[in-house]
Amino acid sequence: MVSHVLSFDVENWFDGNLHRRWTGRLGETGAATGDRLPAEVDAVLSLLSEAGGVKATFFVLGSVAAAHPEVVRRLADGGHEIGCHGMEHDLVREVTPVRYLEGLRRARGLLQELSGQPVAGHRAPSWSIDRRVPWAVAAVIDAGFSYDSSVFPARTPLYGEPSWPVAPFWLATSAGKHLLELPPAVLRLGPLSLPYGGGLYWRVLPFALVHLLLRRASSPRVTYLHPWELNPEPAGPLPAGTPFAARAALHWGVKHSRGRLRRLLSALGFQEFRAVVGSLSADPRLPTVTLRGLEDEAA
Ligand SMILES: [Zn+2]
Repeated sequence: MVSHVLSFDVENWFDGNLHRRWTGRLGETGAATGDRLPAEVDAVLSLLSEAGGVKATFFVLGSVAAAHPEVVRRLADGGHEIGCHGMEHDLVREVTPVRYLEGLRRARGLLQELSGQPVAGHRAPSWSIDRRVPWAVAAVIDAGFSYDSSVFPARTPLYGEPSWPVAPFWLATSAGKHLLELPPAVLRLGPLSLPYGGGLYWRVLPFALVHLLLRRASSPRVTYLHPWELNPEPAGPLPAGTPFAARAALHWGVKHSRGRLRRLLSALGFQEFRAVVGSLSADPRLPTVTLRGLEDEAA
């Protein structure tokens, strides 16, 4: 049976870019609500432990690591892989190449120091590596990462590159640098793309469909969740006037998501990124997508 990749983006519910964009005030709300992250991460660790000691990759936001160093240590002590989710939760296209590279270096350094393990994997906030930021690939490599999971191969209102592969591939710069890219699970049917690997898509789709697609996959698929999505106590309180879509994105399915994950973990095999990266890097069949842009290299 295929073992899929299980990953978590470790951040607070109010860190998400779409939520910030919609309401503009969630930062304040989050500060007023209090930070639920340590308890949410502990709940994930218990769930994985109850499932027989499943190991996962946790892409931790640098600002979260700075605020909660004990969370990173607990994850590493539990034998899980630590990855990097950037320093702040900014979209890559909204920061300069210099600031982006600095943030990656700071966050990776902090995570390595706290975890005592080499941090090889990176995931950009909100899947924001795409054609618009060709320089980002060189920045991720220059910051010391050897694999990446930052490209969403389907179109969404905030991110996505629907023409890029749904299976692992090499992202190359015109200067000849290569970065192993592992996108999240997306089913492609002709021109249609159906994301099912995590987040809101995973919560909205029928459990039987997610289970079927993962069970029938012939190679490991990348799944991802946020600890706050597994908190049955919905995020909030949300500011007055928060649009329905923003409420739905934060609240839909969270009451049932722990149970869903428990069922998936008992039915299917899951593993960390680092368990699959070596063999993928050596696979000569992986396709290459070459990014071309005026600004190919991070400064
Ligand atoms: Zn994130």
